[in-house]
Amino acid sequence: MTIDLGTHPLTRWTGPFDLPAFGSVQDQDFEPVFEAALRAHEAEIEAIAGNSETPTIANTLQALELSGDALDRASAVFWMLAGAHTNERIQGVERAISPRMARHFSAISMNPRLFSRIDDLFNRRDELDLDPETRRVLEKTWRRYVRSGAKLGDEDKAALAKINEELASLGASFGQNVLADESSWVMFLDAGDLDGLPDFLKAAMAEAASSRGEAGRYAVTLSRSIYEPFTTFSERRDLREKAFRAFTMRGQNGGATDNSEVVRRTLELRAEKARLLGYESYAALKLEETMAKTPAAVQALLEPVWQKALEKAAVDQEGLEAIASGEGHNHPIAAWDWRHYAEKLRAQRFAFDEAELKPYLQLENVIAACFDVATKLFGIGFREQKGVTAWHPDVRTFAVLDGDGTQRGTFLADYFNRPTKRSGAWMSALQSGYKMDGGSKPIIYNVMNFARPPEGEAALLSLDEARTLFHEFGHALHGLLTDVTWPSVAGTAVSRDFVELPSQLYEHWLTVPQVLEKHARHRQTGEPMPQALIEKMEAAKTFNAGFATVEFTSSALIDMAYHQLSKAPEDPLAFEADTLEALDMPEAIAMRHRTPHFQHVFAGDGYSAGYYSYMWSEVLDADAFAAFEETGDPFDPETAAKLREFIYSAGGTQEPETLYTAFRGRMPSADAMMAKRGIA
Ligand SMILES: [Zn+2]
Repeated sequence: MTIDLGTHPLTRWTGPFDLPAFGSVQDQDFEPVFEAALRAHEAEIEAIAGNSETPTIANTLQALELSGDALDRASAVFWMLAGAHTNERIQGVERAISPRMARHFSAISMNPRLFSRIDDLFNRRDELDLDPETRRVLEKTWRRYVRSGAKLGDEDKAALAKINEELASLGASFGQNVLADESSWVMFLDAGDLDGLPDFLKAAMAEAASSRGEAGRYAVTLSRSIYEPFTTFSERRDLREKAFRAFTMRGQNGGATDNSEVVRRTLELRAEKARLLGYESYAALKLEETMAKTPAAVQALLEPVWQKALEKAAVDQEGLEAIASGEGHNHPIAAWDWRHYAEKLRAQRFAFDEAELKPYLQLENVIAACFDVATKLFGIGFREQKGVTAWHPDVRTFAVLDGDGTQRGTFLADYFNRPTKRSGAWMSALQSGYKMDGGSKPIIYNVMNFARPPEGEAALLSLDEARTLFHEFGHALHGLLTDVTWPSVAGTAVSRDFVELPSQLYEHWLTVPQVLEKHARHRQTGEPMPQALIEKMEAAKTFNAGFATVEFTSSALIDMAYHQLSKAPEDPLAFEADTLEALDMPEAIAMRHRTPHFQHVFAGDGYSAGYYSYMWSEVLDADAFAAFEETGDPFDPETAAKLREFIYSAGGTQEPETLYTAFRGRMPSADAMMAKRGIA
């Protein structure tokens, strides 16, 4: 089969809003299209590297940025499907293409003729009279090549390329193994097993059972939207324990989907890669280009937080034990009891039940609230376009409009859980927004895993889920509002510990009084959330903060511990257990992500030595929202204009510290974050 990249639906997008014509995308096309696109990209690189003219920004840096368009397009569609709507065929392609891509990109970053041109430009950067953005792109590109091995000798280059290839394969297997364990486990229950469960959960479990061919029964699945409320509300300790064990053993069940060896080998190869590149540890290599810069700076953030969180959790645990013994249970609080008794303690202390909020948090209204906040802050609008075929019938398409009505980008959203989707919530781009060479408009998407409501009923969210929706939409805005020239610094192409600022900051607007008043309306009566309920919600905001902080920080500390080793552990799971013991991890709390399913860290390289980033960004977001509070107006126009200019539109055009300081006038301390978490 010959592939014409100029007309193929994967590489030339002809759908509405310049989307791919998803209806014409065939799974069997990916491999041949990738092959053709890789060869086309190789030819482009060869032309740049082999150019006999003196290197210029146009013939080298710009040519490089604009190369690989067909490969970018096919990849964007492919990785979207691999995450949001996969199948066996796509998983097969993923295993085959991951090492192939790694080989391809290693060859580019270690191409000596190409690097000598970049190096030449870099050495002449002071004479080239560059605008600040171009200069920064040049410097970043040069550093990226050096950090990818461009200066190594031939033997080390070959060794590094092999490592990259194997790491890519391991990352693909890791993610597929977790998905296999998640989608294969289900616990069917009958009406007699539902003690304590609220109606919304029973409905979601009935829907999950019927979609698995067990109509009339109730299914506990490992989707967070079902697992967490089930272990919170179920009075059946035996069933809570069963669900808890399945959830925390994902990726560690023996057999073909067990991730223990994948993790061991990944850590071994990462340590070897760091050594080849001349770094003390993989964490040192990864952190060099972040705000934190060194492992020591990360530890300096996490360690005091950890001590405070342990103290807070110990106090909370006593409260839970009192409730349990009041019910006549004299067992110690186990990890499958914590959520359950915490919910009861909250109800007792604040007369507040999380489930009371749900009728006010209809998915439709939370989406409208997200859009409304963006309109108030940034003057942009959203118009749903019905009838657009995307990758699944659930996917919704919105035109994103500037104040004058012109379309600035496209937003797609895929909200409901299904067995073909990996767990979690994320934002990504099919296409990023930039101005170079005629420009490109951003096409951004959000993927969530909310439980699907029964036919004809409104989907209701928990407060956490509504926050997640705001969070991912904050990332989407970072992509949609981008205003840069160079593709490589567009949107979310910023340091990992800065990228959670636009998302976590956006969460703050969910509970702003005007937003609740307008959008948190009861699904039957249309009444706004009663003031008394809002007050209880506010009062309970930092309740259980010790638990949440221990859960998160233990995962961040384990991630850092693995990647600061100069030699990888023989048995990573024993290392996890020993490290937790040395940290005094409470037995009654589990890590938010245990090693065998820690996708941030092992399903690819995105957040390895980087899970701390959420907390690093939280230091910024707590302080950034205070900039609005200090004006007395959560939508203060002047502050919003600065926020747009320096945070949401600026991409990676400047150092994050420079951008943040331009917005706020100074850098923050960690105090506001600890106060916000309720552990100060
Ligand atoms: Zn995020």
